[in-house]
Amino acid sequence: MNCEIITIGDELLIGQVVDTNSAWMAQRLNERGIVLKQITSVHDDAEHIVAALDEAFNRADIVLTTGGLGPTKDDITKKVLCDYFHTRLVPSKQVEKHVRELYKNRPDVLNRLTATQWLVPENCTVLTNRVGSAPIMAFTLNAKRSTLNAKRLISLPGVPHEMQVGMQEQVLPWLMEQLPDMAQTIAHRTLLVSGIAESSLAIILEKWENALPDCLHLAYLPKDGTIRLRLSLYEDAIDVLDDQWNQLKELVQDYLVVDEDKPLELVLGQMLLAKGQTISTAESCTGGRLAALLNAHSGSSAWYWGSVVAYDNSVKQNVLGVPAEVLEVHGAVSEQTVRCMAEGARNLTHTDYAIATSGVAGPTGGTPDKPVGTVWMAWATPDGTYAECFHLGSGASGASSVSREQITARACTKALLGLIRILRKID
Ligand code: ATP
Ligand code: MG
Repeated sequence: MNCEIITIGDELLIGQVVDTNSAWMAQRLNERGIVLKQITSVHDDAEHIVAALDEAFNRADIVLTTGGLGPTKDDITKKVLCDYFHTRLVPSKQVEKHVRELYKNRPDVLNRLTATQWLVPENCTVLTNRVGSAPIMAFTLNAKRSTLNAKRLISLPGVPHEMQVGMQEQVLPWLMEQLPDMAQTIAHRTLLVSGIAESSLAIILEKWENALPDCLHLAYLPKDGTIRLRLSLYEDAIDVLDDQWNQLKELVQDYLVVDEDKPLELVLGQMLLAKGQTISTAESCTGGRLAALLNAHSGSSAWYWGSVVAYDNSVKQNVLGVPAEVLEVHGAVSEQTVRCMAEGARNLTHTDYAIATSGVAGPTGGTPDKPVGTVWMAWATPDGTYAECFHLGSGASGASSVSREQITARACTKALLGLIRILRKID
């Protein structure tokens, strides 16, 4: 049984809003073993919505839509669905009660436009949108067929939080109850490698990959200088997956960072937590991005203590204690400076480890000596300080073809990978 998603909204097609709804929904469907075949985005335009629905139902049994359920004129999904299913809008006591309760302290919102939220297509099943006013509507097509063969359409709100709560609390349980045989085996295993180019990795894996059974698919997902390899299974053959997964891990063992789909900062955090140790950062070119990564996960306060964003030399000097002559003689982007920055941050915060970054993120500021993308990094540890220089740009002395965002993202990855490697060596 296949599923498709249609996300509706002009904002998605002019690039004003990125369609995160479908990615989030795809993950949830995958977890439940529901195969998603296509994602389509369309304008708030009746003709386009109808065409997308017709096409989706040619391929799929379940179609989920998001967006266009608001009470304003630009939101037309409910009206279009009414026409599509040859039905009319009728007031729903259930939705009216819910909306009145939702806005009981906001009388200004309970106006005639909001009142249109409790008009619903006569032949749909209303699923409660606990956190919003737009009802979630489930339709059954060709209901004359047996319930199990009938196609389903579920229309959800576009607001991500409303869609997410609705999916978890209403839509997925409703689908599972209506179509108990819908789920099939879907399994994904992902590992992360670094220190090898994608093409070189493909050569190492070529023979093994060519011999993979048809039920398994391998995907290469490069990001910021690392590569995720995902092995996916769409059949009930976990033994086959286990066997090939072990072979894959052996083939990439020299480059393997982690054999799970887990962000690097979390891999590092869990290592620190296991040792009862802590970390801080002193960031110049990464401008606090490492700090943002390290505190992005709940519980990180147990191992991440703080950061100094030392962008200007005065902060490197006055806060981190980098000597003026080090900055003068060697420059801000140098081994000597990052060593002093890392040690300064470690002393200042009393953490076990500190990471320092200083580099040329570009697009301006590159020199023949230190082209855009040159990043010095240091890791201060209880056993001494390590430092390394990375070239994360295109290598050209002029403008780099690698963007500022890419260079800082790659620098963060190198910084985390560096400490993970050091911790593994210490072990
Ligand atoms: P409302 O009652 O708020 O109007 P709605 O169901 O009509 O809800 P939309 O008006 O289409 O939803 O979208 C509301 C907001 O939700 C948009 O401004 C946008 O920020 C966000 N949004 C809509 N669709 C998506 C999507 N596919 N991915 C991410 N965000 C989205
Ligand atoms: Mg809209």
